[in-house]
Amino acid sequence: MGLLAGTATVTGLGIKKSLFANPAEDTGTMVKVVTADGEVKEVDSSMVAHPSEEKLSQFNPRTAVPGKKFVMVIDLARCANARKCIEGCQSMHGMLAPVEYIKVKRMQDSDLGAPYWFPTMCYQCDNPPCTKVCPVDATFKRQDGIVGVDSDRCIGCKFCMAACPYSARSFNFGRPEQVAFSEAHHADKDKCCATKSGTEGTVSKCDFCPESSAKGVLPSCVSDCPNGTIFFGDELEDAVTNGEETFRLTELLKKRAGYRQFEELGTKPRVYYLPPVERQFPFEEATEAHNTQE
Ligand code: SF4
Ligand code: SF4
Repeated sequence: MGLLAGTATVTGLGIKKSLFANPAEDTGTMVKVVTADGEVKEVDSSMVAHPSEEKLSQFNPRTAVPGKKFVMVIDLARCANARKCIEGCQSMHGMLAPVEYIKVKRMQDSDLGAPYWFPTMCYQCDNPPCTKVCPVDATFKRQDGIVGVDSDRCIGCKFCMAACPYSARSFNFGRPEQVAFSEAHHADKDKCCATKSGTEGTVSKCDFCPESSAKGVLPSCVSDCPNGTIFFGDELEDAVTNGEETFRLTELLKKRAGYRQFEELGTKPRVYYLPPVERQFPFEEATEAHNTQE
């Protein structure tokens, strides 16, 4: 990444030693860097720390699962705002409140209609505006349908957040409690997913739990919901499941009048909703503790 040809920014690479380092260690190759004050300076290339290849190669978030096209269906008739999907997601990704990749919103279509709960998350759009504005190719569309974020590459400019019409992305501000929680989470190999969600100064979001999906394990939001509200599956297989029930995707969408949010935008979300008809639970207003944070 460079501002000009032969230029490295401190944001991406970092100056690893003092500008007054021992000249004996110099390589003789000069590169330009941007300092924290915004000045462009020429320094010896030995002063610039490059990201380690080992670190970058541990997990490749761009690798799609071959022969899959992941899809999600949310049955609004079943959602009771139990928030287990949110908690499961936070636990899987090592995130702490108030950051929620899934938000459950109170919806009411008209004054005379009854309110209902509406879980939202990144819709893994097939025509995603977020990936088109990223200046460093840190967010991308995979062939298996997932829209991923490479946090080693993200510079935290937030362009993708501004471009997403669904407000699906979150910025990691680096709160001390989040940093400590994230480090402990990633140290626990049994619990942790390889996606690096809590890296300070980067943007992250729901990613359909790609490591679990690659192994054929349901995302935690699906398996943790006590009401079987969320179905996950493969469009190519024409099947979705909540772990208990399995349906043909096309039949389910036709029979239950499935739809996608803001279809008119042309973003082609990979998350479908089934309208909240014949609700399985009475609607109860959320207490303050059970409200999604905006
Ligand atoms: S929901 Fe937003 S962040 Fe997710 S793919 Fe679509 S535009 Fe991008
Ligand atoms: S915040 Fe990160 S992922 Fe989003 S546009 Fe900027 S660099 Fe790309």
